[in-house]
Amino acid sequence: MKSAKERMTTGFGMPVDDDLNSQTAGRGGPVLMQDVHLLEKLAHFDRERIPERVVHAKGAGAYGYFEVTGDVTAYTRAAFLSEPGKRTEVFVRFSTVGGEKGSADSERDPRGFAVKFYTEEGNYDLVGNNTPIFFIRDPLKFPDFIHTQKRNPVTNLKDPDMFWDFLSLTPESVHQVTILFSDRGTPKSYRHMNGYGSHTFMWYNADGDHYWVKLHLKTEQGIENFTAEEAERMRAIDPDCATRDLFEAIKGGDFPSWSLQVQIMTPEQARNFRFDPFDLTKVWPHAEFPLQEVGRLVLDRNPRNYFADVEQAAFSPANFVPGIGPSPDKMLQGRLFSYHDTHLHRLGPNYHLLPVNAPKACRVRSYQRDGAMRMDDNGGPGPNYWPNTFGGPDPDPSVAPPAVQVEGPAARHAYRLEEDDFVQAGRLYRKVMDPVDREHLIGNIVGHLSGACRRIQLRQAALFYKVDTDYGLRVARGLGLDPERVQSLAQMSQQERVEATS
Ligand code: NDP
Repeated sequence: MKSAKERMTTGFGMPVDDDLNSQTAGRGGPVLMQDVHLLEKLAHFDRERIPERVVHAKGAGAYGYFEVTGDVTAYTRAAFLSEPGKRTEVFVRFSTVGGEKGSADSERDPRGFAVKFYTEEGNYDLVGNNTPIFFIRDPLKFPDFIHTQKRNPVTNLKDPDMFWDFLSLTPESVHQVTILFSDRGTPKSYRHMNGYGSHTFMWYNADGDHYWVKLHLKTEQGIENFTAEEAERMRAIDPDCATRDLFEAIKGGDFPSWSLQVQIMTPEQARNFRFDPFDLTKVWPHAEFPLQEVGRLVLDRNPRNYFADVEQAAFSPANFVPGIGPSPDKMLQGRLFSYHDTHLHRLGPNYHLLPVNAPKACRVRSYQRDGAMRMDDNGGPGPNYWPNTFGGPDPDPSVAPPAVQVEGPAARHAYRLEEDDFVQAGRLYRKVMDPVDREHLIGNIVGHLSGACRRIQLRQAALFYKVDTDYGLRVARGLGLDPERVQSLAQMSQQERVEATS
């Protein structure tokens, strides 16, 4: 007999006698229902897949640590940021956004960059991307936007008409489109890209003073991107190139790292700023809001099991710790609801108990009970309501975030001037990109936009023209569009332009 340690068992621990031959009635007869090991094995296999994430389905992840290197206690009371040298365990998941779980890592797409800090005050999730901005700034547009990045409901194919129709009807997207179609839209690996919290968040200190912040994770490996041709080749050679790169680098002891930096804006500055500092389609210029060092993120441990750690990982921008809170950024407000909600659907009501999602540096003491797959002691004999006089945990008013003033009528408020939407994309095109960046940008756009119909090409080229005349004219030339028509469309209001191209 084998020792208990080595013996194969069923899911319930019963020893298995044979894992090669199903029980049959006679040597050549039918399979017997009483082969309970076979039934259990097939039934579990039938349920191995959980729902794919609707976005960020393809990903890779790793554990590591975050170490504080700068003193930010004047701005935040977060315990994990309380002193230089302090370390906190982290789990990071990188991903592409639009593709399915089996899609290629080198596709043109933003990349997800989600960090879970296992702090002593609970888990803090920074659920960012590799771009400092986004395509839209109102969560009401998000499901529509994602539909256009996915498959056509009739053909089940990716559809340039859907893709560019929506973007050309959404002028605020042109800044993010300009980053996505630069070579930054095809990073060489997850190690060679930056991460950004993208949203504006609130930090508040021990005195209750609050600040608005934007967080940047700058790669210490340097930015490296594929050209469109290299990305295309890599799709065929190794569709899992970024997943492989991350795993192998960490396995070989080449631990990737990022420096966490923060831009800080006072409430006074925010009130008087020339554009809405909570608009997710805009960056805060570095010259006005210089980056300050906070700490260093290092990934040094691969997951032991992909499904347990990476597939079941669930991040939520709503997971704040005392000292960090939300801002009025509308997209952030929408995400505060949506991430938790999608995890309830994908993983169930007790997903927070899964090891990768559970706090590691503090105890959970809540009155939440029961639900499918409750896998801890469910509060044991303790009271399941509050207030109580049976020794249950109490809320702590000292961790309350500061009150923030809001005013004005409750209504569906539109953002300000349309012209604002082109300024920063113009700076990027003219001042930040070099001639090679611009050449690749134009080539990448023309390659993709050429798949859309003429009227949509015209409408989108007019938006590029509004960003910068050279930008618009080069796209128009690449597509064989009449430059005068593009110019005249660019001079119309968005509504007139839409009417003229519908
Ligand atoms: P800066 O010149 O101070 O910053 C430009 C920043 O752009 C760089 O620091 C770098 O940030 C990033 N960058 C460099 N090359 C590229 C590229 N090829 N594609 C995309 N981004 C690149 O000027 P501003 O702060 O005034 O920003 C000017 C424009 O730069 C913005 O309108 C925006 O489009 C872009 N940008 C600005 C960022 C910000 O937070 N201010 C961040 C990223 C881009 P990084 O090290 O983060 O890559």
